[in-house]
Amino acid sequence: MTDPRVVPVKPDFSAEDIAEVLAAVRTGLETGQLTQGAQVEAFEREMAAYTGARHAVAVASGTAALVCGLRALAGETAGGEVLVPANSFYSTAAAPLLAGLRVRLTDVDAATLAPGVRELEQAVTDATTGVLIVHMGGIVTPDLEDIADWCARRGLWLFEDCAHAHGSRLDGRHAGTFGAAGAFSFFATKVITSAEGGMVTTDDDGLARLVRLYRNLGKPEPWRSIHTVLGENARMSELHAAVGRTQLRRLDEFLAVRDRLARRYTDGLAGMRGVRPLLPGHSPASWYKYVVVLDPGVDRQRLRERMRDAGVQLGGEIYEMPLDAQPVFEGRFPPGEHPVAADLCARHICLPLHTRMSDDDTDTVLRALDKALAEEDVTLPPRH
Ligand SMILES: *Cc1c(COP(=O)(O)O)cnc(C)c1O
Repeated sequence: MTDPRVVPVKPDFSAEDIAEVLAAVRTGLETGQLTQGAQVEAFEREMAAYTGARHAVAVASGTAALVCGLRALAGETAGGEVLVPANSFYSTAAAPLLAGLRVRLTDVDAATLAPGVRELEQAVTDATTGVLIVHMGGIVTPDLEDIADWCARRGLWLFEDCAHAHGSRLDGRHAGTFGAAGAFSFFATKVITSAEGGMVTTDDDGLARLVRLYRNLGKPEPWRSIHTVLGENARMSELHAAVGRTQLRRLDEFLAVRDRLARRYTDGLAGMRGVRPLLPGHSPASWYKYVVVLDPGVDRQRLRERMRDAGVQLGGEIYEMPLDAQPVFEGRFPPGEHPVAADLCARHICLPLHTRMSDDDTDTVLRALDKALAEEDVTLPPRH
């Protein structure tokens, strides 16, 4: 098979970025300052300044950000139950379990891919101690302030999984600053990357101190082997921080390109049969993914293949199946409690979107999609 003309994701490093990273790596190698040094501290300061959070604590991955954040948040509620949207990534459900909490899956609102207060009301129990919200595709749900109020009224903490949401805002406020804390990922496929990495944002001094403790083997003094809690090694290296810093500096530039490409998609999809974009025009979103919901009857696998034949490789879905369908979680969650999430998981695609795409590439994608849908026509219900 030939290489696709349009690929779903591609990291963006300019010649200057590469020179800067190489210089920082050289400094690290020459001085022996390889971890938990000036680069990590600067990356944390810059991320805090960018998001408006009082603290940002760098960790080894987005999953580690969730686990360390949850360990810090759980405190005396260890063993309590956390509400997690059923259509999220593995880590959103695995992290609470790894942190000694229990998980209850919630359904979502079809318009936002996130739970609203209604879905949380349906799922909450006496054992619930906190809520995990995921900014799916980089869209902060317009219900987030209501959700934060609802959590506060019930004495529940709110933790935002911001792995998709670098630069995403709602009413001028950055993702990761609405609840007790936020967890970012800098994995290679995200909006910005440090190759591997993560960050916990919070305004709470005590919480930030605990996250630092849990990321570094439970040591209150980073370089002294006295351990006061059961922490893990979730530290970020200086080399990774150097990569992440060059990316964070370009985030606004990346967001402008992503927004332009997303608008082209939204315009191109208007009037196309068999599809609807999710929350068109909602911004500023990071557009980590451009989600297109398919009409019932469109065969997603066949559509993917047809588009691949036209030179377009679609991105991974968010997500292909609900969490309870993952083999690791088999039998853990009661079935049938999140019909909307399950339906959306089965019935959407994610169009290629990255900063090295051209306007022409979006046109190629739209043409390929239109053609593939036309070929599906026989199986679509008639329009009246
Ligand atoms: C990528 C991702 C994570 C995990 O991040 P890693 O850095 O890969 O550990 C967690 N939650 C969501 C929603 C993600 O997309």
